[in-house]
Amino acid sequence: MAILVFFIAIWYLSLFSQTFFQHRYAAHGAFKMSKGWERFFYVVAYITQGSSYMSPRAYAVMHRLHHAHTDTELDPHSPSFSPNIFAMMWRTRTFYQDIIHGRMEVEDRFLKNLPEWPAFDRWANGTVSRLLWVAAYTLFFVFFASSPWLFLLLPVVITMGAFHGAVINWFAHKYRYINFKLKNTSMNLFFIDVLMLGESYHNNHHKHPSSINFGKRWHEIDPMYPVIRLFAWLRIIRLPKLAAVVAHKQDATGKL
Ligand SMILES: [Zn+2]
Ligand SMILES: [Zn+2]
Repeated sequence: MAILVFFIAIWYLSLFSQTFFQHRYAAHGAFKMSKGWERFFYVVAYITQGSSYMSPRAYAVMHRLHHAHTDTELDPHSPSFSPNIFAMMWRTRTFYQDIIHGRMEVEDRFLKNLPEWPAFDRWANGTVSRLLWVAAYTLFFVFFASSPWLFLLLPVVITMGAFHGAVINWFAHKYRYINFKLKNTSMNLFFIDVLMLGESYHNNHHKHPSSINFGKRWHEIDPMYPVIRLFAWLRIIRLPKLAAVVAHKQDATGKL
């Protein structure tokens, strides 16, 4: 029981950090925040993602490459260029490593308005930190797992951030339905997406990358949208004026 509660908590906390901070904020600049809050969410990302922490800066650069080069050879992760999901995860890892270690030449247009905290990333993205988290997760499982089967969840916990990324980047470029005809394979994976906190409305997202509401049709509830509005109301973040207006109109009409 304790393991399942832990797994569900880590699933959503890690995903919250990824969708809110690394994806919507760092990569797409869907909203702004002060340097202080930015550092706060760096720490939140580190605590919630642990061994699978991803540098917001490297994530953002890699993800911008995905949007600019979707389904081409320059796409860091595309089912069209990998035989299976694990091969795609490995390819993504290579891109990420090349970016974070400065081994890849990146055009200037992908480097604008990025969050930076190099000293923090050096520790949080480093081997020692990752190994310490793995040891902590393993000990937790050893103490609380009531059945050996539960250990099957341990590799998912250790790689949680990458696992979430792979689910979207593989399955939401392969399955289900589209709202917008685009020149790429992006699809909306679920009709109602609570599991991936709105990330699975991936066809919508490729159409409107910096929208604060990933849902477009009446049933496409984006659980992060009210959270973003709440954070804006609490002045933790600032919304660009236009985005707020567009999202509000979409809410009111329920149409695209
Ligand atoms: Zn995509
Ligand atoms: Zn995106």
